[in-house]
Amino acid sequence: MTNTMAEVSVTDKIDVKNIPVDVQLHKPGKTTPGRYPSRDRIYVRAMKGMHQAIRRYMGFFFMGLFMLLPWLRYNGEQAILLNIAEQKFSIYALTLWPQDFTILAWIFIIAAYGLFFVTTFYGRVWCGYLCPQSVWTFIFMWFEEKIQGSRNQRMKLDQQPWSFNKFSKKFLTHLCWVAFALFTALIFVGYFTPIDHLFLNFFTLQAGFWATLAVLFFTFCTYGNAGWMREIMCTHMCPYARFQSAMFDKDTFTVAYDERRGETRGPRSRKDTDYKARGLGDCIDCNLCVHVCPTGIDIRNGLQYECINCGACIDACDDTMEKMGYPKGLISYTTENRLQGKGAHILRPKLLGYFAVLLIGCLAFAYTLHSRQPLEFDILRDRGALFRDTSEGWVENTYTLRVINKSQQPQTFVFSVSGLEDARWIGPTELTVAGGETASLPISLAADPWELAQPVTDITFTVRVEGQPDIEVSQTNRFFSRR
Ligand code: SF4
Ligand code: SF4
Repeated sequence: MTNTMAEVSVTDKIDVKNIPVDVQLHKPGKTTPGRYPSRDRIYVRAMKGMHQAIRRYMGFFFMGLFMLLPWLRYNGEQAILLNIAEQKFSIYALTLWPQDFTILAWIFIIAAYGLFFVTTFYGRVWCGYLCPQSVWTFIFMWFEEKIQGSRNQRMKLDQQPWSFNKFSKKFLTHLCWVAFALFTALIFVGYFTPIDHLFLNFFTLQAGFWATLAVLFFTFCTYGNAGWMREIMCTHMCPYARFQSAMFDKDTFTVAYDERRGETRGPRSRKDTDYKARGLGDCIDCNLCVHVCPTGIDIRNGLQYECINCGACIDACDDTMEKMGYPKGLISYTTENRLQGKGAHILRPKLLGYFAVLLIGCLAFAYTLHSRQPLEFDILRDRGALFRDTSEGWVENTYTLRVINKSQQPQTFVFSVSGLEDARWIGPTELTVAGGETASLPISLAADPWELAQPVTDITFTVRVEGQPDIEVSQTNRFFSRR
């Protein structure tokens, strides 16, 4: 009874479609019966078209940026260096320390809500166009295509017995994959360790244990993910694939097949102009949309979580439609409401909510960045004794002033204290610290106990940056005496 009620409420909200289980037509006749059927290899057919051109140019641009950025210099240093060992991230003039965690947190919040916003509006375009897994996979497919040939040639090659020709093509493909994976792994590790020595040191076995391990690890992961795992990463391992449906609504743009226009599908000749009279729709059942799909799905079966919104099936179908003389757009980026003939609703509460949080995150990030002081100031009291008597009958307290120069230039810091009248400062009052370095200054304060009103006096240390009067950081502490 309970089950029946649950079924009624679920089907009330969601249009359930029966999807045939044998839609993945990659390598027929090679499935293992049982709970975990073996994975059929997907032979992706190369396709040209507007969406593939956009994806390719975006890939070139961001891959170029990825490869270029670690080589840029700023003030004689690597401009972007995320030094985990020293716990400081340098990005041009900005150096982030563990104390700047809030800035990093805002960056992550902005990235997360940016992704939520784009997903609600335009589905999984991140996956199809920018996700490193997709970008690297498409590059690896390009190597495969150039060395082993077209989809049909690759399928034929795999069915052939091993020969010198087959071995040399396979060997060259894997060699290119490993070389590209190694090269990009070196670039990636170059964001975390000085890149100018990394390449030479790696190949001369002088890169150090952790750098070498990191390069080998990322080479292995890239080769494995883009060469072997491919769509498995997207369909079984990526958490985003699982929760993105929570952001979708009926006005989210996704790649979709216009079933009302396309069905009933069926082959026909180009000259056949009265196919509609025979009950046929515009889909000629050429299966091109399936052959070009990197995740091996048939978009005609409806929205599926495996779809990465790459648009390859749109280009393939538009190509077919053009050849047949039909209007393009049988498969397109569209919304569920549009497919049902309802209007589009761009401004909707969920989208506006994500946008509002995104805007707040950007403003908070800008404010945190703007109000960030270029120094960090701490005071440590001498743990050995609360105070010490001097030969003149005064009491002396010892402190260690610790300052982090968060800028990238050397700075001279000037220290002072308030709250303790007529106190004597014993030690230097200035300290010059190199950019991005930490330095400590042990000092003592001496005071006449008869001039103090109580045994514990609250005092304030202040540090200023020489030549920058508007930068000043204060810390409170206490002065102990015997009265
Ligand atoms: S169904 Fe179309 S958009 Fe989705 S992954 Fe396959 S080719 Fe790309
Ligand atoms: S490419 Fe277009 S016409 Fe060909 S099977 Fe797919 S939807 Fe039908």
